[in-house]
Amino acid sequence: MSSETQDHPCVSCGACCHTYRVEFSLYELASMGGVVPDALTHEVSGNRVRMNGTAQFPVRCAALIGDCGVQSICSIYEQRSSTCRNFDFDSDRCHEARARHGLPPLTPIDPIWPLAA
Ligand code: SF4
Ligand code: SF4
Repeated sequence: MSSETQDHPCVSCGACCHTYRVEFSLYELASMGGVVPDALTHEVSGNRVRMNGTAQFPVRCAALIGDCGVQSICSIYEQRSSTCRNFDFDSDRCHEARARHGLPPLTPIDPIWPLAA
């Protein structure tokens, strides 16, 4: 891991993984030809599934390692769903999640490059 990656705000955050329901198409599951591990998900209805832990309160995605605001590691980063891949760092929802967990707003001096895929 490079020092740049270690400095990225997401690495010490994880607020989004502690805030939002993570729902996506059944066809993203590994068993259906996708990549998301089936064991970390549950069916919602029809062709929709959710990450375990994201439909309860308090929210905590089952794939997350670490503590909110201290360390955040997605244990399935390479296999995460499109919902997670499309979540925008430094977006309104990112800011809202950080605020809900008492984390300071991102500032212009925070690195804004995306984490390596
Ligand atoms: S995207 Fe935003 S809320 Fe999610 S881990 Fe990164 S800084 Fe935190
Ligand atoms: S799959 Fe990874 S990126 Fe997505 S909510 Fe869970 S821990 Fe966060």
